[in-house]
Amino acid sequence: MVSSKKNDIRLSFLGGCGEVGRIGIKLELSGGKSLLLDYGVSLSGEDMPVFPGHVRPKDLRSVFLSHAHLDHSGALPLLFSGEVKVPVYTTSLTARLSYLLLEDFLHISGYNLPFERREVNVFMKNIKAVNYGQETMMGKDVTVRLIDAGHIPGSAMILVKSPEANILFTGDFNLVETQLLNAARISDINLSEVDVVVMETTYANIDHPDRRDLEKELVESCREVVDKGGIVLIPAFAVGRSQEILCVLRRYDFEYPITLDGMARHTSKILLSYPEFVRNQKLLREALSRAKWITNWAERRRALKNPGVIVSPAGMLKGGAALYYLQKIYKNPQNAVFLVSYQIEGTPGRMLLETGKFKFNGSLEEVKAQVKWFDFSAHSGHKELMRFLSMLSPETTVFLIHGELDAAKKLASEAEETLELKVILPEEGRVYHL
Ligand SMILES: [Zn+2]
Ligand SMILES: [Zn+2]
Repeated sequence: MVSSKKNDIRLSFLGGCGEVGRIGIKLELSGGKSLLLDYGVSLSGEDMPVFPGHVRPKDLRSVFLSHAHLDHSGALPLLFSGEVKVPVYTTSLTARLSYLLLEDFLHISGYNLPFERREVNVFMKNIKAVNYGQETMMGKDVTVRLIDAGHIPGSAMILVKSPEANILFTGDFNLVETQLLNAARISDINLSEVDVVVMETTYANIDHPDRRDLEKELVESCREVVDKGGIVLIPAFAVGRSQEILCVLRRYDFEYPITLDGMARHTSKILLSYPEFVRNQKLLREALSRAKWITNWAERRRALKNPGVIVSPAGMLKGGAALYYLQKIYKNPQNAVFLVSYQIEGTPGRMLLETGKFKFNGSLEEVKAQVKWFDFSAHSGHKELMRFLSMLSPETTVFLIHGELDAAKKLASEAEETLELKVILPEEGRVYHL
């Protein structure tokens, strides 16, 4: 499929090659103007966020955003500092959540960012909300459609159909149904028509445990700690993961106090007003009303007085109310910290998992509380990625992004050997002719 026809489509990657994050895919259509799929930052490490390659807004026809996570959306305000206004298509919920995450991004790393609140606001004004399944025309012969990706609420795969080629960008996706979300709706795509797939590979070499077993294990582990008078801190991402954990606790009738804090409160409120994006509205409503929502410091301190579970961002312990709780509970081996998110290399959460130590205000301390990781992924694991690839026709060209290089390489050889697919690990900045 990769050719060098005159009237071809050109695909290039502005980041996300061999790394989790900094996603930006430029699709130059035969008419000259380009579509940009996602434009995010890399947030690994404690330093500055890293931005994707440059793109000129005037070269863009439109932008499509797969979901609200900053590794997909965090660079978008950069496009809105000048006169040119590019429309950004995404789901209504992604628009709402992006605003929240970008505000938080400004709040945390404001001085280090190459944009300000003004650019975020202009970006928001240029969003055009579209529904899953709705076709958006780009010129006279290109259509773009969003498909539920099952990753976080509002997330989408992006399918671009043009006379030259049909291109599917998976965004981040999950083929496994969770308590909060349905699995990605790949049955809505005619995969035999897809010529090019750009697929995420966050968990290319990891098979997730069975979801139901994992849910039971988490609830049992929480019970064990709380039964003995301990406190369990569950640092969780504000968008999706916090609500998923609350749904799991509700689903298995967890009987002890549950506290919800940090930005997860805002995102939970938002999700309640977008019920069409969750699998089971009733479960979510019950789960959220079952938890005590912290509204002030007195309540925060009180939450630490009794055994129970506290769910609070940040998921990788880079900030948020979770840090306050951690500082209060880490010295007591009766307590526990249950990490339920992917811990990117270089983050405090990853360091805690690997060394049992945590840096509080510059001083490295041993964490005596039990530390455990539960693989509650919002991404497809190795098995699901291979299952997805096996549904493609052998003529499909697959580009692997959004994953560590070694893992992606392994997946590529497996797909080439067993499925006879053509798999490319793209290089940043290089142009691929479709
Ligand atoms: Zn994501
Ligand atoms: Zn991502």
